[in-house]
Amino acid sequence: MTTLTEILKKSFLDKQDILTLLQTTGEDQLALFRKSREITDFQIGNKVYLRGLIEYSNVCAKDCLYCGIRKSNRKQARYVLSDEEVIACAQHALDNHYGSIVIQAGERSDAIFTSKITAILKEIKKMSNGTLGVTLSLGEQKLETYQEWFEAGAHRYLLRIESSNPKMFAKIHPHNELHSFERRLKALHDLRKAGFQLGTGVMIGLPFQTLDQMADDLLFLRNLKVDMVGMGPYIEHQDTPLYEASDFLLPRSERLDLAFKMIAILRLMMPEINIAAATALQAIDPMGREKAIKYGANIIMPNITPTVFRNQYKLYEDKPCTDESPVECTSCLEARISMIGSEIGYDEWGDSKYFLKQNQMKQPTASTL
Ligand code: SAM
Ligand code: SF4
Repeated sequence: MTTLTEILKKSFLDKQDILTLLQTTGEDQLALFRKSREITDFQIGNKVYLRGLIEYSNVCAKDCLYCGIRKSNRKQARYVLSDEEVIACAQHALDNHYGSIVIQAGERSDAIFTSKITAILKEIKKMSNGTLGVTLSLGEQKLETYQEWFEAGAHRYLLRIESSNPKMFAKIHPHNELHSFERRLKALHDLRKAGFQLGTGVMIGLPFQTLDQMADDLLFLRNLKVDMVGMGPYIEHQDTPLYEASDFLLPRSERLDLAFKMIAILRLMMPEINIAAATALQAIDPMGREKAIKYGANIIMPNITPTVFRNQYKLYEDKPCTDESPVECTSCLEARISMIGSEIGYDEWGDSKYFLKQNQMKQPTASTL
């Protein structure tokens, strides 16, 4: 049997290696985390890049069984930010030297929504003089819509596969055309075709999920050659159908621990990609995102949504930072990042090194313009 020391020296992990690493505890787990941080420092440095997260709207046409803002959750009041509010958020990111923003929302593909996003993107490019990097996380869309948004100025896109196992995917989504595994795969391929840096990810610790499936999730990310990954623990929400399976969940602390290991292993497998420390980590442990940085992540998405709307973008229970103003979030983050010995890459886009190398061209960053 291959020992842990041998596995940590490998440049290409196979499924058995991944399974061994997912099962590490104690000193072995710490050795995995140390190795992952060492690789991160060597390959991409100790900088953490910021994406100011704008939760644009909680209106959603879909009904994912795990998500608090799903269409059928009638208890959830709905909102859409005004254009002025979005631009004010982007201005806040600029003023605080964040370098990039993420615009995220429930999924809508009607023309009013898609053209509104195009207009907002153009406005953000104009007001920031092209210096603000823009990631979108707006679900599955037609190739033409992705192309339109790319041309309007967005250049990274996050669309999680949620689970790379079609049977697990079917367990956590309704069974209809709007929620099909094949459609999601096609959307991921279309995003790449449109020119985006491609981001995807999974939820960790879903009811009935096995370690074997988690190992396959990591292999899926490597096979798809993604540029960035955002993955975090599944957290239940009582007004969703998946809440009924809560008896089959691991304790939250174990889901968190698995999420940390998934991040560390992925860093070993894909040393040059961007890995985000998901907000859900912070919902379980106040220092969850910072710990993820220590274990191999390099992106943090501070929430810059106007405080009054944050409680309405409630995907899961115990969402953090719902009562802090964007200003408080920034100062608190700076202290936390320096506490773990990392440094914030202010005014930088912090694009995926993996993407830049594959495309053999450097996109201009705010600091080089
Ligand atoms: N609607 C877009 C989409 O689905 O891609 C973007 C917004 S959606 C709320 C962003 C992510 O939230 C999803 O990809 C999902 O992984 C995550 N999410 C939703 N409900 C969650 C839950 N209960 N626990 C953890 N993550 C959750
Ligand atoms: Fe809508 Fe995204 Fe939530 Fe699914 S995960 S219900 S698409 S917001």
